[in-house]
Amino acid sequence: MALAKEAIEYLRDNREGLLKRLHEYLTIPSVSTDSAYKEDIRNAAQFTKDYLTDIGFSHSEMMETGGHPLVYAEYDGAGKEAPTVLFYGHYDVQPVDPLEEWDSDPFSPEVRDGRIYARGASDDKGQVFMNLAVFEAFMKTKGKLPLNVKVCIEGEEEIGSENLYSILQQHKEKFASDFVVISDSGMVETNQPTILYGLKGFTGLEVTLKGPKRDLHSGMYGGAVRNPIMALAHLLASMKNEDEVITVDGFYDGVKPLSDEERKLIGQVEGEDYRKTTGVKETVSEKGYDAKEHTMARPTFEVNGIYGGYQGEGTKTIIPSEATAKITCRLVSGQDPDRIQQLLKEHIENNVPAGAEVVVKLEKLSSRAYIVEPNHPLIQKAAACYEKAFGKETVFVQMGGSIPVVEWLDSIYNIPIILLGFGTPDDRLHSPNESFPLDSFDKGMETLVYYWNEVGI
Ligand SMILES: [Zn+2]
Repeated sequence: MALAKEAIEYLRDNREGLLKRLHEYLTIPSVSTDSAYKEDIRNAAQFTKDYLTDIGFSHSEMMETGGHPLVYAEYDGAGKEAPTVLFYGHYDVQPVDPLEEWDSDPFSPEVRDGRIYARGASDDKGQVFMNLAVFEAFMKTKGKLPLNVKVCIEGEEEIGSENLYSILQQHKEKFASDFVVISDSGMVETNQPTILYGLKGFTGLEVTLKGPKRDLHSGMYGGAVRNPIMALAHLLASMKNEDEVITVDGFYDGVKPLSDEERKLIGQVEGEDYRKTTGVKETVSEKGYDAKEHTMARPTFEVNGIYGGYQGEGTKTIIPSEATAKITCRLVSGQDPDRIQQLLKEHIENNVPAGAEVVVKLEKLSSRAYIVEPNHPLIQKAAACYEKAFGKETVFVQMGGSIPVVEWLDSIYNIPIILLGFGTPDDRLHSPNESFPLDSFDKGMETLVYYWNEVGI
């Protein structure tokens, strides 16, 4: 533990210098989606690589990906007995518009009321920087890191990590490790230690029901011809019942009911007041589960859009020629996205009312859910380190959203992926006035010091 103490003291004593370096990092406008920033993207990659070299990583390079470069570095000085971690993050940021809604320049970092304001302060340069600073602290105080480290900092996360999957596949050995750590997520409340141990998967499709070849006069044909909007309404209603249970055959195959342990963990999370934040008078949830359990840990089925027929002012007495609905599902572990997509398609095709033709378009982007056992020692140690640094008991959450890189790393390596996020709900990721609290910066680094110390040798 002496090791941890010295590293923490180093971070405290050198806080000003570290913040100055973070400012420099945040000053580089590494917007990945806009080709006007191509040079800046490269500068941010170079900055990341230089920092890793300065820290003492024995190998660091900029890997060409076909898009923006990926920064890769290796440290193997902890010896053969020590585990190897792959640390993933991204140095690219979201665009800043609308610029006029920023209270200070997004690329001139400014500290106000204990928060540092800049694009990327939380997502993800700030959190990447915290990890690098902690590696620096170990090197400076002990001359080595407690474990071997591989670093993968990409420049395309905000544009869907276009080239990452193929790079990982091509260089499978190079990126291989015992476990992965990612700091690119947040806590449920400011300074409330949070372990994100499950992410949902995703799939979807679009269904169009076609009736007559053109819109028809409802007086002349109503009663003889199937109305595609009505048919679509019946079809959609056949896919989920009033108990919010999805009634597509085989949809829940492989989904385990929530265990008492999971229910307990979910119960510990101070849930959002859905009625207050959404404005609805009543919440709904799958029979047998409350709203929090359903959003966090059970699969969902949503119609995201529906259109067809006359949408203009007043009345138009027609039987429309077609109607379309867009459908997506959030999946949990045990569900294969491709199989679910096929089940939805089959259900639709088998339930098309006579007199309507169906066209199904499958969504291309789909992903599997990710879950790591909350009792896994690497997770339990993370929870304990959070508690030590933040002085508060850690809560365990699953999230309705998806992070593609997690799914890819899981499918390629099948190793534990630990999401050590420090963001807060007020960080305004992707929005004007993105910021990150300096208090979380300090406590987050302290957590990381404890963690590397705990999992290393
Ligand atoms: Zn991010």
